[in-house]
Amino acid sequence: MEVPFLDLRGAHARYVDELKAAAARVIDSGRYVLGEELAAFEHEFAAWCGVRHAVGVGNGLDALALILRGYLGLGALAEGDEVIVPGNTFIASFLAVSGNRLVPVPVEPDPASFNLDPAAVAAAIGPRTRAIMAVHLYGQLADMPALAGLARKHGLLLIEDAAQAHGAACGGRQAGAFGDAAAFSFYPAKNLGALGDGGAVVTGDTRLAARVAALRNYGSDAKYHHLFQGVNSRLDEIQAALLRVKLRHLDEDLALRRRVAWRYREGIRHPRIVLPQVACEERHAWHLFVLRCRHRDALQRHLQAQGVQSQVHYPVPPHRQPAYAGLRDVRLPLTERLHGEVLSLPLGPALGEDAVEHVIAACNAFECPP
Ligand SMILES: *Cc1c(COP(=O)(O)O)cnc(C)c1O
Repeated sequence: MEVPFLDLRGAHARYVDELKAAAARVIDSGRYVLGEELAAFEHEFAAWCGVRHAVGVGNGLDALALILRGYLGLGALAEGDEVIVPGNTFIASFLAVSGNRLVPVPVEPDPASFNLDPAAVAAAIGPRTRAIMAVHLYGQLADMPALAGLARKHGLLLIEDAAQAHGAACGGRQAGAFGDAAAFSFYPAKNLGALGDGGAVVTGDTRLAARVAALRNYGSDAKYHHLFQGVNSRLDEIQAALLRVKLRHLDEDLALRRRVAWRYREGIRHPRIVLPQVACEERHAWHLFVLRCRHRDALQRHLQAQGVQSQVHYPVPPHRQPAYAGLRDVRLPLTERLHGEVLSLPLGPALGEDAVEHVIAACNAFECPP
């Protein structure tokens, strides 16, 4: 049996006719950028998150970068300010910071959740710290009450990288509704994925929302009137229309993901495989199911031989990448160890029960090297 890591075609099969009708509607409309579909999607996505504003942009990295750029313009940040980021994250969280001439200060994770450890954040706060960027890694909400407390106490911005966390919640409050602003990605593989690139900034801050809406469109508030030196990063009409369809099915997609994760947690029993720890069920939106194993590479080869595709998120942390040679001297032993042990199992709305049982059996049959 072959089990793909993620089957997007299968995930779309349940509502493919709706997707095709939405694309056809946009083609027939003759309007392809900054039109009604985007306005409607922004409204619907903001409501789904329980936040006042959503601004569609070209991708998740731009969403993060434009939040910081917006706050630079509003005077809440200045060049050279420090932003605390998790050491174990996708490189986009770092790129958004350094790309705005801000300084990423990476910290170690909580070893149970792999998310930001509030104690490590508190220890990293210094005179130039102006913001905390929480990443809800793998779809699990970071400890937002503790991080919000720190942000308040030290007068810092709290920004959420919610690119993996559509649907994670705590006390009924959604990811994206905790910080001053949040960035979402609609990259196809994300929990809410477009059929191409896309992203959004979500915020209750009306001044920031207006600023980002201008920045994404050449800094203009009206045609050929440019308030700021902006960029071109817009969520186009076809993607917005497709996302509106997928948003209507998102709760169902999330329930399917949760079911797979629940079966994995029930079924995988192996002395050398550490299952993900979950603080509470609603906090995890299961973008990725990430286990840990000291013999990760051998486990991955074993699974491959059984027809099970797996991936590593991520093999090398940002501070060990050639792109961040300036962070070469940073020491993050826990982060570095995690990158050598993590393995992501197949997970998605279209993963059938047979496939899930096959993955479980393959994991349980793993024979560790001595
Ligand atoms: C995917 C991702 C991003 C970037 O999103 P893109 O749409 O691919 O630019 C940022 N942060 C995290 C944690 C991600 O997983």
